[in-house]
Amino acid sequence: MADNHSKEVRSMNMAHIRSTNSKPEEIVRKYLFSKGLRYRKNVRSLPGKPDIVLRKYKTVVFVNGCFWHKHDCGRFVMPSSNVEYWTKKINSNVKRDKEQSELLKSQGWKVIVIWECQLKKKIREQSLLNLYEEIIK
Ligand SMILES: [Zn+2]
Repeated sequence: MADNHSKEVRSMNMAHIRSTNSKPEEIVRKYLFSKGLRYRKNVRSLPGKPDIVLRKYKTVVFVNGCFWHKHDCGRFVMPSSNVEYWTKKINSNVKRDKEQSELLKSQGWKVIVIWECQLKKKIREQSLLNLYEEIIK
């Protein structure tokens, strides 16, 4: 796997590690916890193994990386090497995300995705507040 990482992706990962002190999922979990919400994490018994599961609100939250899940935000750039490999890989991620989300919804779950780019320092607070309100609505 590591060998398939192009230089672009490696530098993107490094940039990400440098730009945040903790992982995006941790930022979101800490915030929700501070708001008094209780959750389980990485629940394997549910489709897509959601990052955060709030049973009380019948809600699951996915914290998605813009590259791996092809967010239409400008952060997603197809690597210029191994194009075929990456196109296939990323498109299958997107397809799986969609299938899993539909499955969860059919089981009565509210599915919320929060994107890595929404957790940039400048807009993080607002994004987290929006997420919280969406959960408890
Ligand atoms: Zn994004």
